[in-house]
Amino acid sequence: MKIAILPGDGIGPEIVAEATKVLDALDLPIEMDHAPAGGVAYAAHGHPLPEATLQLAREADAVLFGAVGDWRYDQLERHLRPEQAILGLRRDLGLFANLRPALCYPQLAGASSLKPELVSGLDILILRDATGDVYFGQPRGRRMAADGHFPGDDEGFDTMRYARSEVERIAHVAFQAARRRRRRVTSVDKANVLETSRLWRDVMSEVGKAYPDVALEHMYVDNAAMQLVKAPKAFDVVVTGNMFGDILSDEAAMLTGSIGMLPSASLGAGKRGLYEPSHGSAPDIAGQGIANPLATILSAAMMLRFSLAQADAADRIEAAVRDVIASGLRTADIHAAGTTRVGTSAMGDAVVAALRAGQLPVEV
Ligand code: NAD
Repeated sequence: MKIAILPGDGIGPEIVAEATKVLDALDLPIEMDHAPAGGVAYAAHGHPLPEATLQLAREADAVLFGAVGDWRYDQLERHLRPEQAILGLRRDLGLFANLRPALCYPQLAGASSLKPELVSGLDILILRDATGDVYFGQPRGRRMAADGHFPGDDEGFDTMRYARSEVERIAHVAFQAARRRRRRVTSVDKANVLETSRLWRDVMSEVGKAYPDVALEHMYVDNAAMQLVKAPKAFDVVVTGNMFGDILSDEAAMLTGSIGMLPSASLGAGKRGLYEPSHGSAPDIAGQGIANPLATILSAAMMLRFSLAQADAADRIEAAVRDVIASGLRTADIHAAGTTRVGTSAMGDAVVAALRAGQLPVEV
């Protein structure tokens, strides 16, 4: 198994180091090759996604990504900004599906801004198409009155569009994911207003017929936004387009109150995927050794499950993280009275120790 490790900017290198520590502890034949991406890559090579980094990702079975983003590069032209590293990888590797589980460990329910009983034990999956929709539709642009534009007012415009094939492929990912979970899919759209959504809804229903064991419901995006804060545990898999998913996945992430705990995966038609924490590069705490590495460690678990066919190893990592949380260890972002505060590296060590402890043969 060959994985490309792209730590990126800010806390990226710190949290990825802990994830590789955990992968090493599994004693699996995994080859890990590191490469720069994001602001550090721009500084060293003049591009956020250098050709050598892209090539490494193409040759790997999976990419483990830290985070990118650095205020020093915010003024660069769009195609040179750090976040182009992720967009470029998704585009080049054909990774159209973004999976974000939002999981709330009962011991961390107090960190949510919702009542603990609403979120304790929450386990939902937000699945978003990441390559289509109004973010990429053509034509797009700005028409300025000063350029002689008729009717003489400045305007900006974007095109929302989905092709049948794009909806079909994300629908299959949703129904297949639901089969590994509680067999319920909520498809989110705005079919009362948008033509794009009408096609989306029809195609979802058609694909759903091939999965009679999975319940499908349709929900308007405004209602979904409300239901997510009213009764989030009623959802299982939520599937939606790029823009609605962008917004709802951040809302779902905040339900748990701990962005440092949430992994994500970007998948395509094959087994290869890109795995990264849901949070950004957290420049405000970079270099202090206090970042929470668990989202990245859980992303590595998703990588083992989806790209490397190592479901047992993924289960072991997730169990080790549960054990560490149950033991009361907390990084600063999830710390509360009565728990023990630890740094990034100590948290990684604790997961490795729990992994090893879980491996011990049971004495009879
Ligand atoms: P952020 O997610 O980096 O940080 C938001 C807040 O959460 C900060 O207070 C930060 O300290 C905290 N936080 C985030 N991850 C944490 C962790 N693991 N442990 C403890 N605390 C954590 O979002 P932001 O501040 O809006 O953006 C910072 C930079 O990251 C920007 O340049 C942005 O463009 C970039 N960004 C990158 C990605 C990505 O790489 N996928 C995603 C979002 C933002």
